[in-house]
Amino acid sequence: MKAITTDFKYLPATTVDEALELLSQHKDDEYRIIAGGQSLNTAMKHRLIAPEYIIDIKGITELDYIKFDQKAGLTIGALATHRSLEKSPIVREKYSVLCEMEENVASVETRNWGTVVGDLCNADPAVDPGPPLIALDATLTVAGKGVAKTVAAEEFAFDFFETAVQAGEMVTEIQIPVLAPNTGVYFTKYSQMQGDYALASAAVLITLDKKKDICANARIGLGGVASTPIRAKKAEKVLIGKKVTEALLAEAAAVAAEETSPVSGIEASAEYKKELAGTLVKRVGKIALERAQKA
Ligand SMILES: Cc1cc2nc3c(=O)[nH]c(=O)nc-3n(C[C@H](O)[C@H](O)[C@H](O)COP(=O)(O)OP(=O)(O)OC[C@H]3O[C@@H](n4cnc5c(N)ncnc54)[C@H](O)[C@@H]3O)c2cc1C
Repeated sequence: MKAITTDFKYLPATTVDEALELLSQHKDDEYRIIAGGQSLNTAMKHRLIAPEYIIDIKGITELDYIKFDQKAGLTIGALATHRSLEKSPIVREKYSVLCEMEENVASVETRNWGTVVGDLCNADPAVDPGPPLIALDATLTVAGKGVAKTVAAEEFAFDFFETAVQAGEMVTEIQIPVLAPNTGVYFTKYSQMQGDYALASAAVLITLDKKKDICANARIGLGGVASTPIRAKKAEKVLIGKKVTEALLAEAAAVAAEETSPVSGIEASAEYKKELAGTLVKRVGKIALERAQKA
């Protein structure tokens, strides 16, 4: 086992090409990317990790953007912070669920420094942007030297703190498609204190048919109730093709709870989190439905 040391070599990059070159020069276990440093610095301070090289991407201004296009939808660059997403007028207009989600991520200080992509790459199972991005059918672009891959939000994290980003790679962007007409989306998290990670969280997207009667599409993302954020596909199937009523939402919520695999912690038991996931799906689904009816 390597001795834990606080010494590291600092390697700043100002372009994506420069960053990919630096990444390609080092082995996976030797380096860490730093963006806003909110998770990385904490892990290093607690001596959980001790990288030999820190590759700083914060200076890559070409990745600091939030853009909307009527056809392509929303793109969020890897250097966009939580706060810039929360405060973006176009995001508020087109994807208000993301602004609402951001208002409860950590503290303003953390949101000012922390990037949305850094939060996803840190891969805490309760990461707040996870469930809404799953519900919104988002994808992440991962780049390496000679590598460009697109990963669905629900497949990005594959275990506690493990993601689809391989050695020599970094995430450059998140893409979110344009919402279909008659769509409503909502997200909420339940945590013990304001700004804490969620004990459980849920995002529900409902698209109604032209007559606003039948559910044409549904997507459900859950956080904090498995080793990664998850998509509750069986619960979605309960809703699709039917008229959404409180009883149907309750049925979908019970199915969603069964799709979770939470672990017990000091704050709550696995059973409690399972139950909570179902309760959140029911509540969030009701608001998503009301939004779809008004859209
Ligand atoms: C006190 C506190 C409370 C918090 N509460 C919440 C909360 O309630 N909800 C929530 O969702 N989050 C919460 N967080 C997490 C916070 O949102 C993240 O720390 C922050 O968003 C990470 O972004 P960053 O830019 O600081 O990433 P960094 O700390 O710089 O990096 C985080 C990880 O991502 C990797 N990384 C960063 N960018 C890339 C990239 N482009 N490609 C590949 N890998 C990359 C780094 O190597 C590192 O492993 C909290 C954090 C703190 C400190």
